Amino acid sequence: MMDIRSMDPEELAQLCRSMGEPAFRGKQLFQWLNRGVSSFQEMTDLPKGLREQLAERCVLCPPAVERKQVSALDGTIKYLWRMGDGNCIESVLMRYQHGNTVCISSQVGCRMGCVFCASTIGGKVRDLTAGELLDQVLFTQLDSGVPISNIVLMGIGEPLDNFDCVMKFLNLVNRPDGMNIGMRHISLSTCGLAEEIDKLARYRLQLTLSVSLHAPDNETRDRLMPVNRAFPVERLFRSCRRYFEETGRRISYEYAMIDRINDADWQADLLAEQLKGQPGHVNLIPLNDVRESGLRPSRRTAQFQHRLEAHGVTVTVRRRLGSDIDASCGQLRRKQMLQP
Ligand code: SAH
Repeated sequence: MMDIRSMDPEELAQLCRSMGEPAFRGKQLFQWLNRGVSSFQEMTDLPKGLREQLAERCVLCPPAVERKQVSALDGTIKYLWRMGDGNCIESVLMRYQHGNTVCISSQVGCRMGCVFCASTIGGKVRDLTAGELLDQVLFTQLDSGVPISNIVLMGIGEPLDNFDCVMKFLNLVNRPDGMNIGMRHISLSTCGLAEEIDKLARYRLQLTLSVSLHAPDNETRDRLMPVNRAFPVERLFRSCRRYFEETGRRISYEYAMIDRINDADWQADLLAEQLKGQPGHVNLIPLNDVRESGLRPSRRTAQFQHRLEAHGVTVTVRRRLGSDIDASCGQLRRKQMLQP
């Protein structure tokens, strides 16, 4: 079966031509797909013969809402989607002043193995297709009725470990004839695959790159994030510096505050030292408890923040949205896996 959800209008035009139809049918088809229809029958302005040919060669299988949790605190909505093959993934809709933001998953599971992260439990099952990435944005908007203006690739999975599909998705979601979400309204978060950061830099996209740093020294980072053994801190920062030079975009460094692991004054000093001469911004995240990890949230976030600021580093502390609904990092899928 053909993966029609991942095709752009040009590819759809090609497909229509191969079925003996004029190319402009591709545009119509793209518009229908961006409206979230679940059958070719609904595409009423396409000739019946084309609809039948399409139905024979492609499946339209929108994700089904397996679970939906709405935060009573801040209106955050967390979706657990069941996909055509039975696998589940999560997306989270957050209401910010600067716009409604959906956080989407890039893989079913994850193979990066960060010790504090729930997404990694059970490893990676498979990559998501470009169409499945797009569907998370589209169906979150359709189901909630909330118009989405921003996207963060910070859900389950490592987006740069699924590079081609993510690039394809960015192109689809960005198109004016599609969802038309501007690159500056998109953030992509990576655990630090330095070679892929170099590759991404060459596209010179205007999206925001977030790097999950979590420790400024190799000893601590090795312990928290296996990826650091392949790309240690110096190597990672070299790619980050290059990324800024290529794109002109400041990088955002994510730093989950973990009790007595990465919250010492010397670590703030070292982090500030490393950020010298490269415009970046640090986002301190309160650690979400994942029982399996044995790690606890730090109580030194304010001190750590002030110490960084004293060195001239720009720091924000992330607000916790949806903390009453397991709204972070694979926690809902984990629950589902433990008690199906
Ligand atoms: N694989 C990508 C994107 C997914 S994780 C990445 O690593 O960046 C999104 C963010 O949540 C990352 O910064 C990740 O390190 C962080 N995170 C994961 N588990 C967390 C936890 N228990 N508490 C706080 N942040 C966590």
